[in-house]
Amino acid sequence: MKNKSTFTILTLGCKVNQFESEAIEKTLCHKGLMSWNIGIPCEKNTDKSLPEICIINTCTVTAKAAMQSRQAIRQAIRLNPNALIIVTGCYAQTKPEEIAAISGVNWIVSHDEKGSIPDLIESFCDSENKHPSIVFYGFDKKRDTKFNDMPATPIGTRTRPFLKIQDGCNAFCSYCIVPYARGRSRSLSEDLVIEKLHEFRNARRKEVVLTGIHLGVYGKDLHPAKSLFQLLLKIWEQGLIERLRLSSIEPCELSDDIIELAANWKGLCPHFHISLQSGDDIILRRMKRPYDSDFFRNLVLKIKNRLPDAAIGVDILSGFPGETQQAFENTVHLIESLPVSYLHVFPFSPREGTAAFRFSQQVSSKIVKSRCRILRELSDRLKYYFYNRFVGKTVEVLVEEKCERMSGLLKGISRNYIPVMFYGKNTHKNSLMHVKIQKVNSRNMVLGKI
Ligand code: SF4
Repeated sequence: MKNKSTFTILTLGCKVNQFESEAIEKTLCHKGLMSWNIGIPCEKNTDKSLPEICIINTCTVTAKAAMQSRQAIRQAIRLNPNALIIVTGCYAQTKPEEIAAISGVNWIVSHDEKGSIPDLIESFCDSENKHPSIVFYGFDKKRDTKFNDMPATPIGTRTRPFLKIQDGCNAFCSYCIVPYARGRSRSLSEDLVIEKLHEFRNARRKEVVLTGIHLGVYGKDLHPAKSLFQLLLKIWEQGLIERLRLSSIEPCELSDDIIELAANWKGLCPHFHISLQSGDDIILRRMKRPYDSDFFRNLVLKIKNRLPDAAIGVDILSGFPGETQQAFENTVHLIESLPVSYLHVFPFSPREGTAAFRFSQQVSSKIVKSRCRILRELSDRLKYYFYNRFVGKTVEVLVEEKCERMSGLLKGISRNYIPVMFYGKNTHKNSLMHVKIQKVNSRNMVLGKI
């Protein structure tokens, strides 16, 4: 590189997007650029000048996420008027023309070309180019059918780093824009997963979170086809990592084999984040979800039977078209009747291009808001109940690098996803400690003692 250009990356959306941003960041640092992002272990820009390159990795899962992506782009342009502005991610993929209409954007990069961003920047910095008015990268060819691996494994500063092992989705649930944004399902080969886990182990990481857009179908596209269970088994057999956690998984893909493996292998965290979306069978059919409430009930009971201490998180999408008061109450009653530990609640948001965009019986935004509030309050009660079950017990936590923001106490995450705060030394960071849970306060903060 001719000069030490400085860059910043703003990331919206899911763990997969975060993983990809961190991979771009690491590769740019390797190429000699300097990161403005806090906590990235590469040479920092210490003077007060502005970053020369701004990358905005967008999201479009809801209308709000798309709006926040537009705001982030406009803010980056306003704060860094002379920077090269690069926009990528799911919003850029599905609505490149809306991004192009924002004055000041220079490059719009498709998902397929996301991994090439560092090389594109390097060539740009090496040339005498001025910022182009607007360039589209990767929109003119057929969507890639291979796994879009990133040029570097982002180890960064996360105590529990993400590893993307699967991308894309073939399911086309009626509300979801993601298959349009990320294309067909494709997987990282088993050998590469193992290689990357070696990298994490060499960087002294004790836990890795396996992520994907549709994680449960991992391996189906490989030749020969593989499964998530086979991959987990291989990781177990090789004794590669002390703790492995799965990000969210679909109910039908959390197989008996995986549950059994978690019961037999301490390294597979007993924490399952399951995408239920609704507890009403009519709504589930309209969503094109391939299970019903009884299936979900049996799954949760099966997990708890085999793994009584497991954390079970549940995604709920509230306010889907046709969600009557009765349908909403069916969801609430289903959750209340099961040993669920917490909820992730999303308001339904009609996404253009999806089937549900045109569905009749849209629910008013006022009702959607109120249902989301009721579900979030339910989630607080579930968490309180779940955490309190462990008061007086000792759990193994992995101590995070970052202290708890308000109290400055150390924070560790248990295998079953309880965030425990306690007094300790800096040397305890990134180590596995045994902590006795002492109490849970009214704000669901869990306090413990080494
Ligand atoms: S499984 Fe359904 S909800 Fe999940 S990414 Fe695919 S289409 Fe979207």
